[in-house]
Amino acid sequence: MTTTIGFIGLGIMGGPMARHLAGAGHDVAGHNRSPEKTAPLVEAGGRAAASVTEAVDGAEVVALMLPDSPDVEAVLTGDGGVFDTAKPGTLVVDFSTIRPDVAADLAARASERGLRMIDAPVSGGQAGAENAALSIMVGGAAEDVEAARPLLDVVGKTVVHVGPAGAGQTVKAANQLIVAGTIALVAEAITFLQAHGADLPAAVEVLGGGLAGSAVLDQKASKMLDREFAPGFRIDLHHKDMGIVTEAAREAGVVTPVAALVAQLVAATRAAGDGGLDHSALFRTIARLNGEDVS
Ligand code: NAP
Repeated sequence: MTTTIGFIGLGIMGGPMARHLAGAGHDVAGHNRSPEKTAPLVEAGGRAAASVTEAVDGAEVVALMLPDSPDVEAVLTGDGGVFDTAKPGTLVVDFSTIRPDVAADLAARASERGLRMIDAPVSGGQAGAENAALSIMVGGAAEDVEAARPLLDVVGKTVVHVGPAGAGQTVKAANQLIVAGTIALVAEAITFLQAHGADLPAAVEVLGGGLAGSAVLDQKASKMLDREFAPGFRIDLHHKDMGIVTEAAREAGVVTPVAALVAQLVAATRAAGDGGLDHSALFRTIARLNGEDVS
C-alpha cells in the first residue's frame, strides 16, 4: 500500500531514508532548510516541498530527521508547523535524536491535537541509513508503533518497541554513551599501539575478532589510522547527545562517571574546532593530549 509521507530534514541520515521510502513505492514529499538537498529525493521518485506546510499537505505520515530538540519543537509547534497543519489522525514519526522529556511532551501535545506521535531514533550511522540497515528504538503507543512498522522496516533492519513515548530516546541516549565511550577507548588503544610501533592494521584486525571487537572498531578504526574524519556523525551532534545523557542521568539520580569523562573529551574535541568532523575525530583530542601535532 502506498503511504503519503511528508519527510522533513534531508541531511546525512534523512536524505537516504527518504529515498528508500520513495524507492519502496511511497509518495514522499521532502522538505529541507537548504532546498538543494531535495534534489536526490526527486531523482529517486519523490517530490520537493518548499515548506513544512507543503510537505505536510495531504500526508498520512510525517517523518522528521532533524538535528536537535529545538529544531523538532520548531518544526512541530511553530507557526505553519506540523501541529498547525496536519490533518487529524496523522502519524508523526520522529527519527531525530532529542531529549526524552521533550519527546514525551511533544507526543502528549500531538495527542491533544488529534495527532499520533512516536519517537524512533536510529543507530547505524550514515552506512546504516544508506543500506537501509538501521537499528530503530521506538517509543509510543503500541497501535501507533504497529501502524508505523511497515515504514520503519523499509529503513531499518532491527526495529524494537521499547516502551511509551520518550522511551526510544532514553535507549538512544544509552546507545550514544556506549558509542562515544568505545570511540574514546579505540582512540586510546590506537595511540598506545602506535607508541609501541605495532603493525596497526594487523592489530586492529585481530582485535576485531575477539572480545574487543565492535561495530565502532570495524567502522571507525580505519578513519583514525587514515586520519580521515569526514562525517559521518558530527562531533557537534555527539556533544548534543552527551548533554542528553548527562542531564537524563542527573535527573534520574544515576551516577555515570565514565559518561562525564567522555562528555568532556567530546566537548574538548568541539572546543578545539573539530565539531564539524566525524565523531571518530575524538582521536585528535587523544593525540593532542599526547603532544601530537594534529594540524
Ligand atoms: P544533518 O546532516 O545535519 O541533517 C539534518 C538536516 O535537517 C539538515 O539537512 C538540515 O538542513 C535540516 N534542517 C534543520 N532544521 C530544519 C528545519 N527547521 N526545517 C527543515 N530542515 C531542517 O544531521 P544528520 O547527521 O542527518 O542527523 C540528524 C539526526 O539524526 C540528529 O538528531 C542525529 O543526532 C541523528 N543521528 C545521526 C546519525 C549519523 O551518523 N549522522 C546516526 C544516528 C542518528 P541544512 O542543510 O539547512 O542544515
